[in-house]
Amino acid sequence: DLSHKVILYLEDITVSFDGFRALNALTLTIDAGELRCIIGPNGAGKTTMMDVITGKTRPDAGRAFFGQTMDLTRMREPEIAHAGIGRKFQKPTIFEQHTVFENLELAMKTDKRVWRSLLAQLTGEQRDRVAETLKRIRLTSEADRPAGLLSHGQKQWLEIGMLLMQEPRLLLLDEPVAGMTDEETERTAELFVSLAGEHSLMVVEHDMAFVKALGGKVTVLHEGSVLAEGDLETVQNDPRVIEVYLGR
Ligand code: ADP
Repeated sequence: DLSHKVILYLEDITVSFDGFRALNALTLTIDAGELRCIIGPNGAGKTTMMDVITGKTRPDAGRAFFGQTMDLTRMREPEIAHAGIGRKFQKPTIFEQHTVFENLELAMKTDKRVWRSLLAQLTGEQRDRVAETLKRIRLTSEADRPAGLLSHGQKQWLEIGMLLMQEPRLLLLDEPVAGMTDEETERTAELFVSLAGEHSLMVVEHDMAFVKALGGKVTVLHEGSVLAEGDLETVQNDPRVIEVYLGR
């Protein structure tokens, strides 16, 4: 039964701002474990779509399901976050004065399940989780440095690590490689590919080299709905997509 593999299902989502349709009957399905890239020109509705998924914006019409049963249009932002949808905005929100290790530790403690240990030492198991995440985001050697001293790319990875400490099932990432060096961009692609399967990822990105490196299915948004969907090469050769990007 394929329906059990769907992690996110948006159906006919419409969002209007003063009569202008930022999303216009948007329908989109993401499978569990998938790494999906979302591209599209400015104003296409990418941010509004993520706002709907995270409960920041209520759609005027349409349905949004997380997993089989959770109706996102009826849930509040914190509930949705707690249910396992993590969102990374472009600008990292890390605690610059605290060490890299402490940042991950704090991220874990905002999870209610470990809340009661706020004033206690980390258990061995929790330390292992931090160590494992440090390794994943390639910051093991930086663990004891203040986060403010990291490079731009490393700060982005730290924030992704902080999201991972909450064990999200779906990660929404807004232009994660903006401002990164080519090498950092490559490392980020490797990280995301390694996260897929265990997590589902939705990546909004303009950097086509990065989208290519991720290798997943690509959805092109335009004027609030899906214009094209498929592998990068297919959508890049789609005449409708070319027209939208080149402005005819
Ligand atoms: P993208 O992220 O793809 O650039 P957005 O989702 O930010 O697109 O915006 C889609 C359209 O909706 C744009 O034309 C934008 O101006 C409009 N829009 C977004 N948010 C608001 C808002 N709060 N009020 C009015 N218009 C908005």
